[in-house]
Amino acid sequence: MIRRAVRPALAFVMLLTALFAGATLTAGTAHADSCYTWGRTLSQGTSGSDVRQLQIRVSGYPGYGSVLAIDGQFGPATKAAVVRFQKAYGLTADGIAGPQTYSKIYALQDSDCTPAHFAYSELNRCNSSWSGGAVSASTARSNALRLMWQLEALRHALGDHPLTISSGFRSYSCNSAVGGASNSNHLYGRAADITGTPSLCSIDKEARYHGFREILGPGYPGHSTHAHLGNQSSRYWSASQCGI
Ligand code: ZN
Repeated sequence: MIRRAVRPALAFVMLLTALFAGATLTAGTAHADSCYTWGRTLSQGTSGSDVRQLQIRVSGYPGYGSVLAIDGQFGPATKAAVVRFQKAYGLTADGIAGPQTYSKIYALQDSDCTPAHFAYSELNRCNSSWSGGAVSASTARSNALRLMWQLEALRHALGDHPLTISSGFRSYSCNSAVGGASNSNHLYGRAADITGTPSLCSIDKEARYHGFREILGPGYPGHSTHAHLGNQSSRYWSASQCGI
């Protein structure tokens, strides 16, 4: 009689242990990211700051010539961007941001919310305060964060080769020191000059798919040694030697 009573009790304890281990594992995954943790699945029709956080992470996937609005509204464009992100990383491409998509994002980002292969320090070789530009330091930093997620998408699309940022945010004094345009997007923290493999033209061409409205490269005056990628409202692409 005792044995019979003990066995179900043991089984129950084992079940509890398994459940607890499962719960711990799930919680561990959710907390793996010290930057931001999503608390719900997001799909078309949802809205909020968590949607906005998602949009920043998938802003490099708007499709050719497009820009994803970071507005906290999960509409068709956000769904399409999530689908492209999912396809890029071999996930189930359903356009719904759930545990699988969040796990990938957590794996891709650092504790300060920057993507794995780019850092604030790379986006600002001018000063450490992000001040002295055309916008406030906090705006320049948030512009740079979005830019980095676009660059992460670009880097992945180009085969995960390292991309080097030779210039990012510039204060007015840093900008004039390098002879930058007086209204340069570098002053806003929303432009980066890139060098790297496979070639400047492949970087410029691929950038058209990752939300960059400003693309300047070989053939455009002063841009034979780097690809300039920026965010602005109107499209201006010019790299005649690349056929752009
Ligand atoms: Zn530039």
